[in-house]
Amino acid sequence: MAMNDYILISTLNDFIFCPYSIYLHNVYIGGEEDLIHAVPQTQGKASHATIDNKTYSSLKDEITNLSVCCNEFGIVGKIDIYKGKEKLLLERKYKLEKIYQGQIYQLWAQYFCMLEMGYDVEKLAFYAILTNKTFFIDIPTKENKIELANFILKFKQFNPELPIHINENKCRHCIYCNLCDKIEMENVYT
Ligand code: SF4
Repeated sequence: MAMNDYILISTLNDFIFCPYSIYLHNVYIGGEEDLIHAVPQTQGKASHATIDNKTYSSLKDEITNLSVCCNEFGIVGKIDIYKGKEKLLLERKYKLEKIYQGQIYQLWAQYFCMLEMGYDVEKLAFYAILTNKTFFIDIPTKENKIELANFILKFKQFNPELPIHINENKCRHCIYCNLCDKIEMENVYT
């Protein structure tokens, strides 16, 4: 598999939101990231800032901001925190009112990367910074693994030229709203 056939784990959730947004992201990724990122995403990014700067923890037991890859699935990405003693893989979010399936797929994807890379992971969790709450997620079963593989296949086979189902409510909150040629409406954040 060529490296550019690999997909970014961070885009799995966006693909569920709207597959066409991935296409737009790829088209504009080389452009002005700050200009196309509206308020909610920027807030999420800020909560990752301390981890990205590797300042979250100096404890040897914790690995932060590790680049990970899984050849079996053809995915690449980064994990937030791996706590070696607890064998815990943790993903921090600024706000977490509801955990979406796409976010679970992302954590599963990170998990399979860690396993392939030789790490021992027994627990998965999300951590909400705003409410200081931890939400544990089950380790994926064999069926979950097949579900994730099928989802990734769908992602890789997506054809942006085909018509898509438009959900106006989603489009209104989409950061690519102003760039999208599938719809004609104004972005609520502008
Ligand atoms: S504006 Fe709508 S159709 Fe276009 S990428 Fe966003 S959600 Fe998808």
